[in-house]
Amino acid sequence: MTRTLYIDPHAHMISRTTDDYERMAAAGVVAVIEPAFWIGQPRTHVGTYIDYLALICGFERFRAGQFGIRHYCCVGLNSKEANHEALAEAVLEILPRFALKEGVVAIGEIGYDEQTELEDRYFRRQIELAKELSLPILIHTPHRDKKRGTRRTMDVLEEHGMDPARVVIDHNNEETVEEVLERGYWAAFSIYPHTKMGNERMTEIVRRYGPERIIVDSACDWGISDPLAVPKTAELMRRRGIPEDWIRKVTYANALTVYGLSGEMREADWLDPPPIDQRTLYMGNTILRGGQEPRIERPKRLEDQERLEIS
Ligand SMILES: [Zn+2]
Repeated sequence: MTRTLYIDPHAHMISRTTDDYERMAAAGVVAVIEPAFWIGQPRTHVGTYIDYLALICGFERFRAGQFGIRHYCCVGLNSKEANHEALAEAVLEILPRFALKEGVVAIGEIGYDEQTELEDRYFRRQIELAKELSLPILIHTPHRDKKRGTRRTMDVLEEHGMDPARVVIDHNNEETVEEVLERGYWAAFSIYPHTKMGNERMTEIVRRYGPERIIVDSACDWGISDPLAVPKTAELMRRRGIPEDWIRKVTYANALTVYGLSGEMREADWLDPPPIDQRTLYMGNTILRGGQEPRIERPKRLEDQERLEIS
């Protein structure tokens, strides 16, 4: 039997533990995308931003790999922090060099929070940056006044001539999905336990709209959220009779198609992976703590080859 593979295309893994990585890998999650986001309190210096972006492009990517999960990221200035003008200017200045790093698959998450003038200015500048670098965009839609905010987001993207086929609009609900799909965008849904979009509602949306351009993610972060939301939603869809090829699209293939446009994410990254060797160092550090046994696994294909040679 072939293993079912999942991609979680919106996961703030720096907030999660190694247990989460182990559970995700065991459930079939082969790749995650970590969008740059609001860390829960305002950053006050561009230096903290630089270190944060270096972390999601660097050590976190390494850490995920030590658990057999491929890690990608999106870089951007989030809408809340766009309201701090001096910081925003400085971040826009350093952003292009991070956008060119290995494993960066989009500019994001960007968009509106309270829909202020400053948010609008830095949203537009980041759309231009994405166009310049030929990167897709990940949109964070506002939690308040969502329908109007989502419509305005799409209007502005179109004003700048951004191709909707290169834009993922996230945090959709029943109120926004129809217009987002009609206008040609990818519609993503963050599945939170207890609140907002639950997996029962998600199943109904897929039944109603089909699997084209719909993407499921966990958006797991420092709040109450579930890093297993993607495989759990897939399982519920299966039980509710959603066809397997639809499930594959919304929990795997669609995310690969749109973020693959960056040229930084390929199926071979996880189908033909580097070995796990937890003795590996990243800038002098391992993920191991005093006396722990490292997990060392060579890729299956090498072991198979060896067996052939012996027999
Ligand atoms: Zn997020």
